[in-house]
Amino acid sequence: MVKKSCTKCHGEGIIFSIKEDHLFAEICPKCSKECDICGGKGYIIKEDKDGYSFSEPCECRKILKKVSLFNKADIPARFISASLESFKVLHLSHEEAKIKAKRFIKKFPMHKQGLIFMGPVGTGKTHLAVAIIKELILKKGVNCKFVDFFNLLSTIREGYNTGKSEMSIIEPYLSSDVLVIDEMGKGRNTAWELSMLDQMITYRYNSSPHKALIITTNYTNDEDSTLKEPILALRPNEKIIATHSEPYEQYFIYETLKDRIGERIYSRISEMCEMITLEGEDYRIKKGSKISDN
Ligand SMILES: [Zn+2]
Ligand SMILES: [Zn+2]
Repeated sequence: MVKKSCTKCHGEGIIFSIKEDHLFAEICPKCSKECDICGGKGYIIKEDKDGYSFSEPCECRKILKKVSLFNKADIPARFISASLESFKVLHLSHEEAKIKAKRFIKKFPMHKQGLIFMGPVGTGKTHLAVAIIKELILKKGVNCKFVDFFNLLSTIREGYNTGKSEMSIIEPYLSSDVLVIDEMGKGRNTAWELSMLDQMITYRYNSSPHKALIITTNYTNDEDSTLKEPILALRPNEKIIATHSEPYEQYFIYETLKDRIGERIYSRISEMCEMITLEGEDYRIKKGSKISDN
């Protein structure tokens, strides 16, 4: 039985730690021994109106389910203290994003759309996405998953060598009720990489209702606020911004989210998710600004 006064779990019944770069939850050992409803058996015996007895899972087992969901969610270790309460509001756009995150949690599973948090590095996009799935798991027992798309791609590549099918590797990301895709658009975005992303999005899109997506990305919908990178070599779709700076001239390339992931994936996610742009201090490279402003 969870004790409000427990010093180990602070009345939550669950304690958190880090295991292999991910967050790990376990039942509070102090509280679990003390379940005074079931005496630790995990079930209780009840009697129906005709006097027949039947067993029912004890309340303490609901916590066990949440712990198991939490440990399957693959939340990166650096987000151990990420919550909506710990999200720093430094800009009006952050306040709006936080309100939308709260609303999504409250309405789930009756929400209308998932969320895309767009904006520069350091504005707390992933913090918000993680805070949402933590609450959904721990308060509502929702099956959520966080995907680091690059790790996933390398696992799929390894799978080719060890005879594991693509489908067996991506299946957990198709079936989860909520999927966080972090840093969408990052990387090389080869045809193969985009086809993996497309498989995940299309499956979730075709489910009825759509399976919820929460996306974070440094790319936005317009050239002024999207991510700029110093030019190395141009690829198709990329556009150049020249910024004049003493003593040399430097060029930046920029692409919008749609440029990065292609029309088809973009159109699906924009139907499935509400787009929220976060602005902030980290955003300094503006079109035509000087290098010395960075
Ligand atoms: Zn405890
Ligand atoms: Zn119990």
